Amino acid sequence: MSLPPDYHMHTPLCRHASGEPTEYAAQALSVGLTEIGFTDHSPMRRDDFDNWRMRFDQLGEYIEKIEKARKDNGRLKIKIGLEVDYLPGHEDWIRELAAFHKWDYFIGSVHYISETWAVDNPEQISKWKERDAFEVWTIYFDRLRMAAETGFFEIIGHADLPKKFRIVPKQDCRPLFEKFLDAAKKTGVAIELNTAGLRKDCKEIYPSRAFLELAFARKIPITFGSDAHATLEVGADFKAAIELARTVGYTGFVKFEQRRRSESSL
Ligand code: ZN
Ligand code: FE
Ligand code: FE
Ligand code: ZN
Repeated sequence: MSLPPDYHMHTPLCRHASGEPTEYAAQALSVGLTEIGFTDHSPMRRDDFDNWRMRFDQLGEYIEKIEKARKDNGRLKIKIGLEVDYLPGHEDWIRELAAFHKWDYFIGSVHYISETWAVDNPEQISKWKERDAFEVWTIYFDRLRMAAETGFFEIIGHADLPKKFRIVPKQDCRPLFEKFLDAAKKTGVAIELNTAGLRKDCKEIYPSRAFLELAFARKIPITFGSDAHATLEVGADFKAAIELARTVGYTGFVKFEQRRRSESSL
């Protein structure tokens, strides 16, 4: 039984990851993966938007690093994409990024719930104290729904990211999840099982089992990703993620090549 591809991995160009793509690829082979995909944080129209992504003039270097990883690791299938931040108003920019290269897929992620606050940024954790948790989650999932509706993305990243620091509303959040999932169903976008959550305060895969059950009920397709920011994180906790997917009822996952989807069994 072969492992599903690790479709969410970063590079040092984003300024908060270590290890070259060719090293990630070698690690992938050593843990038994047959396919991976790089999805580093995409540039913004303004390079000074924040300090945790590549500059626009580094996109060519990004592509070259991945081509080197392919050359050095011939047995491994290596896809190329981006983890693109969705913010309302950035649609034209995302179209420009899409036209820049023959990408295999885009992961659409919401980190920002305003122009300046990324809810998962540890440097901005104090902002959570100024806001009501349910209000933050509501804005986040509304933006995630909008991201799904754009049709720009093959995969939606770490869908319940606001749980990262364990700041969870007392209210029932399932209606928020369902509005997003209904939109995802309409546009056919997949969600990922992202094992980085296991390495954060929430100690849980993104998304939660309860969330994934709602996704499975709607037959939303899935992918798997470690969200590796270091070589040894490639393929991390895939056994746990596969177990979660199977026990919820999933019997397959999806793959992408030049934005075309195919199905594989799990
Ligand atoms: Zn990152
Ligand atoms: Fe992310
Ligand atoms: Fe990521
Ligand atoms: Zn991420």
